[in-house]
Amino acid sequence: MGSLEIIRGDITRQEVDAIVNAANSSLLGGGGVDGAIHAAGGPDILAECRMLRRDRLPHGLPAGQAIATGAGRLPARWVIHAVGPVHSPSDDRTHLLESAYRSSLDVAAELGAESVAFPAISAGAYGWPKESAAFVAVSSVADRLDDFELVRFVLFSDELHELFHRAASELL
Ligand code: ADP
Repeated sequence: MGSLEIIRGDITRQEVDAIVNAANSSLLGGGGVDGAIHAAGGPDILAECRMLRRDRLPHGLPAGQAIATGAGRLPARWVIHAVGPVHSPSDDRTHLLESAYRSSLDVAAELGAESVAFPAISAGAYGWPKESAAFVAVSSVADRLDDFELVRFVLFSDELHELFHRAASELL
């Protein structure tokens, strides 16, 4: 049985096989987690993202999908770039947020990664309400835990850390 961990911390510091980036469709960098990963990981990650755009993704990566690169100077082996949806009050995009998590796990399994760390996708600049972001995140990975040794959520604030724990205690 794989384990689920929920910690407060910095995704760039995680010593796991793969960390997930809350990327945007361009794959060419941004703020938040994305900026932190490129800043800490060095230029190799961005260079690989540019090659992906040129060779395989001329229009970028749609919301709900994920793709891997190396992890440059980070302690992880791979960065899985997942694009979450921008929250919309009028359009229910929950399936796209679920898909961002599940596609990341699909990519991790293809790579042979046994430990995966996630940030709270869409819960920053993309405006997803935090309580819902926590529930969707935990419920999206819950039935896949046996496929991995470790799935870890790494939250940047006490509030999200608390909300993820609450979601896990209700859902698992
Ligand atoms: P999105 O555009 O998908 O909303 P963001 O990067 O803006 O992604 O934010 C996602 C979440 O990640 C937010 O809760 C933000 O506070 C958090 N975050 C920002 N930097 C880090 C980091 N270094 N490690 C973990 N979480 C982070």
